[in-house]
Amino acid sequence: MLIRSVLVLLGAIVGIVAGGCQTNATTGRQQMLFLSLQHEAQLGAEAKPQMLAEMGPAMSRAEINLYVERVGKSLLAPALERDPKMASFTWEFTVLDSNVINAFALPGGKVFMSRGLMQKMTNEAQLAAVLGHEIGHVMARHGNERVSRTLAAQLGLEVAAAAMGSGESAQLIHQIAAQSTELFLMSYDRRQESESDSLGAEYMVAVGYDPMGAVQVMEILNAVAGSSKPPEILSTHPDPARRAEALRKKIANEFPQTQGNPAYKLKEAEFKSGILNKLSRAFPHAGEPTLAGAASIVPEGALGALVGGCDH
Ligand SMILES: [Zn+2]
Repeated sequence: MLIRSVLVLLGAIVGIVAGGCQTNATTGRQQMLFLSLQHEAQLGAEAKPQMLAEMGPAMSRAEINLYVERVGKSLLAPALERDPKMASFTWEFTVLDSNVINAFALPGGKVFMSRGLMQKMTNEAQLAAVLGHEIGHVMARHGNERVSRTLAAQLGLEVAAAAMGSGESAQLIHQIAAQSTELFLMSYDRRQESESDSLGAEYMVAVGYDPMGAVQVMEILNAVAGSSKPPEILSTHPDPARRAEALRKKIANEFPQTQGNPAYKLKEAEFKSGILNKLSRAFPHAGEPTLAGAASIVPEGALGALVGGCDH
């Protein structure tokens, strides 16, 4: 009887993991995902006000928001072409009125960019690089992947048991994940970060930006990394010098046609008049971006011990 129960339990676990495994249309990679697209959309929408409360407020100047939204939505077009089902999300690009140097994305298409990071930039291609990277995290469903790994590691048996007894595993998973929005603030792993860097560069090229803008962002981050308090974004992202190197290689191998080609733009003048001049008029005393107000972030690699699911 005991053996029979154990076998049934094991069958349920295998069934759940197998059921959660799917191929991501954007990356072509197999992933263990327990949350549906609807769950992701709901979790992102629920977590957004919490993010604004902790890291905001949202920028009140409409023209700044509209500029960032326009760039974000242009990058979204090639992203959704590769995976049209992600158009079911309500995509939102929100500027945080904060000196903190940060950018992040919630599942369900909620992308955030701080004023402090934009004030370090010099052209629109750099803005596109950061927005493209964050869109990449959403398209590659990295938040879902992280939650799913955590659930598998911490709650595998209970989830399996509930699924076996009632067939309501999806509901249970959602209930657990809804209590764990802090999961979305944690670091992604290195592979997820480099995946997002790659995707961001691909989206940039698809809409006519010079992908060297992405390398420039890494150089900007590298320059501020040496300060006594490195910026928030560096507590959640790998070494910018290494990321710059990987991006340079990708551009040389995959996008050589973009270099020295006026069809691929940095858009310096547009960014200066549309963002930088307006920000320096609106915040004449903002000074150097500060690094305060960080949310709780776990060190990179802290989730490394979790179950890998279908990573092979
Ligand atoms: Zn990232």
